[in-house]
Order: sequence, then C-alpha cells, then structure tokens
Amino acid sequence: MGQYGMVIDLNKCIGCQTCTVACKVLWTNNEGQEHMYWRNVETRPGRGYPKDWEKHGGGWKPNYKGDKRKPPLGEVDPGLKEGTIPDAEAYGGAPTYDYRKGLFEGKLFDKEAGKVTVPPEGLYLDWGANWDEDVGEGDTPDDNYYFYLPRLCNHCTDPACVASCPRHAIYKREEDGIVLIDQTRCDGYRFCVAECPYGKIYFNQLRYKSEKCIFCFPRVEKGVPPACAMQCPGRAMIVGDVHDKNGSIYKLVNKYKVALPLHPEYGTKPNVFYIPPLSPYKIKEDGSLSKERRIPIEYLGSLFGGVEAVKHALDVLEREMEKYRKGEKSELIEILTGTQRDYFQLIHSKGIAYGQLYQRKGMLHLTKEEIKEMDKFISQPELPEAPK
Ligand code: SF4
Ligand code: SF4
Ligand code: SF4
Repeated sequence: MGQYGMVIDLNKCIGCQTCTVACKVLWTNNEGQEHMYWRNVETRPGRGYPKDWEKHGGGWKPNYKGDKRKPPLGEVDPGLKEGTIPDAEAYGGAPTYDYRKGLFEGKLFDKEAGKVTVPPEGLYLDWGANWDEDVGEGDTPDDNYYFYLPRLCNHCTDPACVASCPRHAIYKREEDGIVLIDQTRCDGYRFCVAECPYGKIYFNQLRYKSEKCIFCFPRVEKGVPPACAMQCPGRAMIVGDVHDKNGSIYKLVNKYKVALPLHPEYGTKPNVFYIPPLSPYKIKEDGSLSKERRIPIEYLGSLFGGVEAVKHALDVLEREMEKYRKGEKSELIEILTGTQRDYFQLIHSKGIAYGQLYQRKGMLHLTKEEIKEMDKFISQPELPEAPK
C-alpha cells in the first residue's frame, strides 16, 4: 500500500498563509464552507483553529490494542476516546467586512464597547481562524518567541475518523493512503468531527455533509503537487511516499529522525511530519548569549512526541548545519535545501513529472518547449463533479 505524506519544515515557514489561501480558493470557496480551512497556519504558542482543538478529545484510547479497522456497519469502534464537536465560535465564523463603513466612514469601531464591530449589527469580532497570529509568549526583546504551525489532515495510518463512521462513508485509499469522505454515503452524523483529534473534519450545514482535506487527489493523480505545497514561497514542504526508502520523507523521519509527528499520543499515526523550529539563544543579564533556546524544549516536546525526540532532532539539525557550513557534505541539508532531491516525489507521476523537470533544469533555465511541457502539469486539473 502506498502512503502519501508530507514533511513540513517549521524553520522555513514564514506564516504568509499562501498555502491556506491556495487551499481555500481551490476547494472551500462555496457557500456552507465559509468557516472551513482544510489547510490553516496557526501561531504557536496559541489556541489554534478550531479554538483549543487540542482540548476537544477524540483519537484512540491510550494502549488500545484493537485492530483499529472499520467497525461493522452501524457501529463505532469501542477503542475510540470520546471527542466533542467544536462549536461555531471555535471556528470564528465568516463575518463580512463592510469596506465602505470601515475605510471611508470610520464606523466600525464601537467606542463604548472598545471593540471593532462588523455587520450584522451587534456581532462583535472576537475570534477568527488566525486570531492570535504573532502573539506568542515571553518578554520582548529578551526571550519572546513564537513560530508557525501549518496544519492539514494527516491522512493517518489508523484514522479515528474512519473508525468513527457508522455509515462507512470515510475510507482510506489502498493505492496512496489518502483519506476521503464519500459524499454520497455521508449522512451528517458528525461522529468524525468529534473523533478526529486534530479538528480536521468540518461540517457543511448547507449540504449537511462532513468535508475534509482531500490531499488534492485530482492533482496528485496527474503528477501535480498538492496546491498548499506547490504554492509555498518558502518551499517548506516535501511531499512523497512515506514508505519509499530512497525518498526524502523516509530519510527525514526514519534515518535522521528530524521530522516528527504532531501529537503522536493521539494514536492515529499521522503521515504529516514536522521539523521542529530552532530558535535564537536567550540573552543573559550581562548581554551575552546563553545556551538555552528561546522556544522552550518542553513546549516543543509537548507537541512533537516528547522532549527527547525534539532534542535529538534539533541536535542533528545543528550538527549537520555546522558540517555544511564547513564545506563538508551533508545529505540531510541537501534534502532540506532541495539540492539533492526535489521536493515533490509523487508516486502517481508518469514520465517526466513537474518536480523532476524543475529539479533538472532549475526554474530560470527552461527552454520554451520545457515551459510548455511544465504548464501541462501546473494547469488547473478539472474538479470532480460535486455529488448530488
Ligand atoms: Fe507560507 Fe509555506 Fe508557511 Fe504556508 S507553509 S504559511 S505557504 S511559508
Ligand atoms: Fe482522519 Fe483526522 Fe487523521 Fe485526517 S487527521 S485522517 S481527519 S483522524
Ligand atoms: Fe488543501 Fe490540497 Fe493542501 Fe489538503 S493537500 S490542505 S486539500 S491544498
């Protein structure tokens, strides 16, 4: 079985939200989807999106030894930990900004309430998908810190969403491990919304169906990378088959152990991995640099499977960076900077895939014919028809 996955290098993410917008305009730009960001980028430390998603429960009970396969039709797997459905406020809604009032009449600020108001009258804007952007923690300028955490469905190996659906509407594709919701079978029970511990299934009130990231399957089937990864100006993502021993993801996760899953304790075995962020050292009272990094290792450990795993990842990164600076060869740094293998190793690619072409020639040295060839892969694939 193939399994698509992604490594996101948090040292490269600049929080620009290009990936968020790429996904939004491609897949969730319709009525009923206003609150949905299949892809979102949240600032950490922060409450995330949906708000406080880490407190909503779901996933597998610790030490559950069941087979984590689909329960019989009409049942929910008994090994699942109870989860809750985030309320509308946790998503932040989708208020309409009145440009006329805001920009030309100065009427959006309610002096009495000390808040910005948005139509309809009386609705106060006090939470949104990226509300706590760049807030972080610590004291400026000595030890303040924050970093960005891009998130999407992890296309988990043991997906709690699949095990929670009594209609068998959610399934994992054999050929590439992508987790999808059969819209014709979904009856809107929302067990999956409660059971995905990552808050990555959204409910469409208008269609009365659950919806989620589809790993851009119509694109990857044609050898085109997922939109979020493709549009990232920081080239923060590597996409490929997590089981391919010659692939970059396998090496980052298993050989160098620098790419770690988010909250592995939820038990779903995510296939999106993160390279934890390095950060500047704290400044001591005498103005010199201490040996302690600004982002507390305990905090990173609470996200990425424990302090030891994070410490190992950061040590390896630092060691390999130092080697590379001295002019020595480092396979790890070559993977991370895209000089050794390209960022998109798509198992569906046939013939000359876009990524390989990009890698072989470099963007600035393409002939007209090659640009034409590349355009075929970049052009928007036809969208599947929405099920009735
Ligand atoms: Fe921007 Fe890339 Fe980070 Fe998304 S992952 S916010 S596109 S830098
Ligand atoms: Fe399912 Fe959530 Fe895992 Fe995605 S992240 S496969 S929605 S359990
Ligand atoms: Fe959105 Fe595609 Fe990225 Fe999933 S893989 S978050 S559907 S752009």
